[in-house]
Amino acid sequence: MFSFKEQVEIKEKLIEFAQKSLIEDITKLDLQEEFNLEGWRKCAAWGIMGMPIPQEYGGKELDSLTTIYALEGLGYGCKDNGLLFSIAAHIWACEFPILTFGTQEQKLKYLPSLVKGEIIGGHAVTETEAGSDVYNLKTTATRKGDRYVLNGSKIFVTNGTIANLILVFANLEPALGKRGITGFLVEKDFPGFIVKKKMSKMGLRTAQMAELLLDNCEIPVSNRLGKEGAGMAIFSHSMEWERGFILASAIGSMERLLDQCVQYAKQRQQFQQPIGKFQQISSKLVDMKLRLETARGLLYKFGWLKQMGKSAFMEAAMTKLYISESWVQSCLDALQIHGGYGYLTELELERELRDALGSRVYSGTSEIQRQIIAQFMGL
Ligand SMILES: Cc1cc2nc3c(=O)[nH]c(=O)nc-3n(C[C@H](O)[C@H](O)[C@H](O)COP(=O)(O)OP(=O)(O)OC[C@H]3O[C@@H](n4cnc5c(N)ncnc54)[C@H](O)[C@@H]3O)c2cc1C
Repeated sequence: MFSFKEQVEIKEKLIEFAQKSLIEDITKLDLQEEFNLEGWRKCAAWGIMGMPIPQEYGGKELDSLTTIYALEGLGYGCKDNGLLFSIAAHIWACEFPILTFGTQEQKLKYLPSLVKGEIIGGHAVTETEAGSDVYNLKTTATRKGDRYVLNGSKIFVTNGTIANLILVFANLEPALGKRGITGFLVEKDFPGFIVKKKMSKMGLRTAQMAELLLDNCEIPVSNRLGKEGAGMAIFSHSMEWERGFILASAIGSMERLLDQCVQYAKQRQQFQQPIGKFQQISSKLVDMKLRLETARGLLYKFGWLKQMGKSAFMEAAMTKLYISESWVQSCLDALQIHGGYGYLTELELERELRDALGSRVYSGTSEIQRQIIAQFMGL
């Protein structure tokens, strides 16, 4: 476990790394919906993709809270939320399920190259008829000798066009309903794995998203993740981790936005005084600060629970819900504080808002997070 002093140092190192090295033209990449490959390589070289992964697989083996501090620093220093989203999908939706449910052979085969960023990971569960109602998925798997054959299609797959390895969920025994769902580690070169089309979206545009087709896609039995029928447990476990950690970098973004807004409110003069002297502006800044600190508190509590080895399914839902809603509102406030300049592309606030809006949908919508929390409250 790292000390608080070390955690703060790691956060500062990541801010410095991101501000000095992740200097690609994000406005251009966003416009062209291009993956930030340079940024990906630099993050991989720093060891970001392996932060929570044990050293025996090449990772940095940071504990949960230290990983959170590092991701916060990254979010503060790096404005490419699409890149950070790609990295988050890679870590929480691919590396982590392999680490938790994989055989030693699978871990040794995939984790070192995922950690080095040499291969890109993702996961595919969503289908046209299975969004929030995710276990209603229709992709099937059939055992044939030493292989499984997968048939179906997946949508909204983050990293879909560029991933080398995708954790695909399919149903082996549809008659069993969700208890038939099973996870498979699908390599992009397996026969029958097809990237059907790239999906365009309003924000996080440097993160690549795809619709995938599994057309008699053949998977060796050794690439099944966990037992037959364990898919629901794997998915639910990885959602807990993903929901808890995926917006740690958004806390950094919110802190950066707040600093930028405070500075602007002190410097921008209207009616012969700084706009920060108007209570309607300072109230917005106070609300941004409150949102940041309360969201951070939820995130740290989640990180602490995971560090203690506790289950934190409800806390993950609260963390995801509160950070995503706060991030969107703080982006709106930041735009308003900057007036007409905030609306300009070059100020990069409109992109931040577009990026933030996605967080209310991925990893389970805000409505679904509320439903989970309500269930834990016995409702
Ligand atoms: C940027 C982004 C990245 C994504 N990445 C991935 C990925 O890598 N892999 C992957 O598999 N999927 C991914 N997804 C898909 C994502 O998980 C789904 O979009 C999400 O779960 C919602 O499903 P849906 O879009 O079908 O909406 P629907 O489920 O159709 O929901 C439509 C609306 O109805 C509401 N609703 C639905 N059910 C209920 C209910 N029971 N109670 C109250 N309201 C309800 C929803 O909250 C929403 O407002 C991604 C999505 C986005 C936007």
